[in-house]
This record gives sequence, C-alpha cells and structure tokens, in this order.
Amino acid sequence: MQSTPFPLEPGATIGILGGGQLGRMLALAAARLGFDVAILTPEADAPASRVAAHTVLAAYDDPNALAELAQRCAVVTFEFENVPAKVVAALHELGAPTAPGDLALATAQDRVIEKTFFRDQGIATVDFVAIDTAEDIVAGLAKLGAPALLKTRREGYDGKGQAWIATPDEAHAAFDRLGGVPMILEARAPFVRELSIIAARAQDGTVVAYPLTENTHRDGILHLSVAPAQVKASTHAAASALARTTLERLDYVGVAGIELFELETGDLLVNEFAPRVHNSGHWTLDACEVDQFEQHIRAIAGWPLGPTEPFAQARMENLLGADVETWAALAAEPGARLWLYGKRETVAGRKMGHVTRLGPPIP
Ligand code: AMP
Repeated sequence: MQSTPFPLEPGATIGILGGGQLGRMLALAAARLGFDVAILTPEADAPASRVAAHTVLAAYDDPNALAELAQRCAVVTFEFENVPAKVVAALHELGAPTAPGDLALATAQDRVIEKTFFRDQGIATVDFVAIDTAEDIVAGLAKLGAPALLKTRREGYDGKGQAWIATPDEAHAAFDRLGGVPMILEARAPFVRELSIIAARAQDGTVVAYPLTENTHRDGILHLSVAPAQVKASTHAAASALARTTLERLDYVGVAGIELFELETGDLLVNEFAPRVHNSGHWTLDACEVDQFEQHIRAIAGWPLGPTEPFAQARMENLLGADVETWAALAAEPGARLWLYGKRETVAGRKMGHVTRLGPPIP
C-alpha cells in the first residue's frame, strides 16, 4: 500500500462516487487542472462518465469495483452524501484517502445526528424530536406545536420523504406513508427567506466561504438562486462563522453547502448540511474566478484554495424536467450562461441543466 503524496501532481487520477451532474461538473473542473477522473457509478452512460477519463460501472459497494477505484485513484470524493459507511471504510483499508471523511458523511446522513451536532456547537436549528413510533409524533406535536414537519432521518432530498402534520390524528397515516422508518419531527421554521452558504476547507485548515445565496424552491426542489444575497453584514458574518465552525469541527476537507433559514430578526437556523458541492453554488461557475467545483478539487488535491469574491451578481435558474426544452432559446439569449447535464431522459422535476444570468459587476 502506497500513501498518497499531497499536493497531488497534475496527471493524478481523482475518483468520484456518483455519476450525476455534480460529478460531471467536478470532472470538468478536475480536467481543467490537469487531473484525470475515474467515476464509480451503477448507471451506464451516466452524465459524469461522458466527461471522465474512466468509469467503473458497478454497485457502490462492489468490492472489486472499490479495489479498482482505490488502485487507480490518489484520492476519492463523493457527489452525494448517502455513501454507506462500509464503502468509505473499504476505500481506507485499500489505501485510498477520501475527502470528505467518514465523520462528515455520518453527520450529514442522519437528520437527528446532524441537528444534534449543530446544537452541540452552539449553532441554532429548528426544535426537533426523534421519532420511532406514530405515538412519538403525537407527543412531538404537543411539544413542538402544529403544524410540524415529519422527515425520514435518512435519505430524504428535494423534499422527498417529508410530510406536514397538522393534527395528532394524521400521525399514524403519515408514519406509515413514510415507510415506518426512523424519522425526525421538526418545528415549523418561521423563515422569511431561505439562504445557503458554500464554504471550503483546505488540507492545511484554511477556510473560505462564498457570499450567502438566496434560494427559492418549487415543490421542495431548488428553483432559483440569487447571489450575493442582500443581507445585513451581521448575517453574512454569522453565516461565515457557523460555516467555519462546522468545517473545523468535522475536520472537513473539500466544499460543503449549508442550507439556512433566515428569521425576521435576521437570525439564522441551520436546516441542512451537504458534505459536497451544492446546487445553490452553481452560480459560482459564471460569477467567480474559482467556482465551487474547482475549489473542491483544489481542496481534496491539497492545493491552495482560490478566491471566493464574485465579480458580478448572479441569478441561477434550474432547468427542471421539460424546462430544458427551452435550450435553443437560452443558447440564443445574449448573457444567458447555459449548462446542460447531458441526461438522456427528461423526467418531471429532474435537474436537466441550469442557466445563470449575470447582473451588474461588483466593484
Ligand atoms: P430539506 O429536504 O430538509 O432541505 O427540506 C426541503 C424544503 O422544505 C426546505 O428547503 C424548506 O423550504 C422546507 N422545510 C424543511 N424543513 C422545514 C422546517 N422545519 N420548517 C419549514 N420549512 C421547512
């Protein structure tokens, strides 16, 4: 077993678990810096595979596939957070470092562990209770007030695996509908806006953050991101501070996204932590010298981080499902910066691409 020397030299291979659009944009950024990318995905013809040097086509927990990935790659990263802990352990045993590491993944994979982590750091979240039975929901509603939001502890995304509970008599049906698995009941956050902060931590511990982004969702899926969010300086400072604490305490290397609720007072509550590049950071591709994808590759390769100040305001719109059919008009629109993910099939609500329009320059 050979230990990886950092910083990685151009020409080294970076492994990515997952073949979706985040993997694709990470692979493009890696290529720009002279790295090769190997994708591990169970999906043939995946969006990331089509821009990567190599694909291992297999289940994420296939031992032979992990051995091949470890043998090829100087470091392995992830484009999604629900990587089984045993996969990370197997990669480590095979001598392949991963970034981020297992603590960050374990924290982000379970909503109760995640919120408890933030509370322990003195970072505010909504009030919550862990749910193991339908009766826990009834007791939780009495504690948190109604309505409250029931979510599966694991594997929910884009509003999936969630149900609002308005009255105790809805508890049993909702518990069954979400599969009877361990859940969390969250108090309703009385937010005025949803914000997110994209931050990065280098191997040497340096932390940088992009300015706050304001996000609007449709049916639980991100629709629009506007950056920099117009917030008080104190709100920006609070977000940067909580991002720094989070990355330091998790001994994090790479880019992470933290989703926030802004209250009327300007105070922030953490909703969710994503140990990866984040959809609400796509605007950095067109409005920053070093975007979130390159920043992640720099961090995990042991390179210095780049600047995070945008040179223009940006408005990023996701192209969901049939929205992508407007590509020709968007391609013809001066100033519309179009990114298409090369997905073979258009499905309602599926992230097919995004378009960013830049606003006035930031002096
Ligand atoms: P999540 O999957 O946790 O990111 O939730 C998806 C969306 O549901 C968020 O972006 C919010 O719009 C909304 N949401 C999630 N949790 C809460 C909450 N506790 N109170 C109010 N709205 C929420």
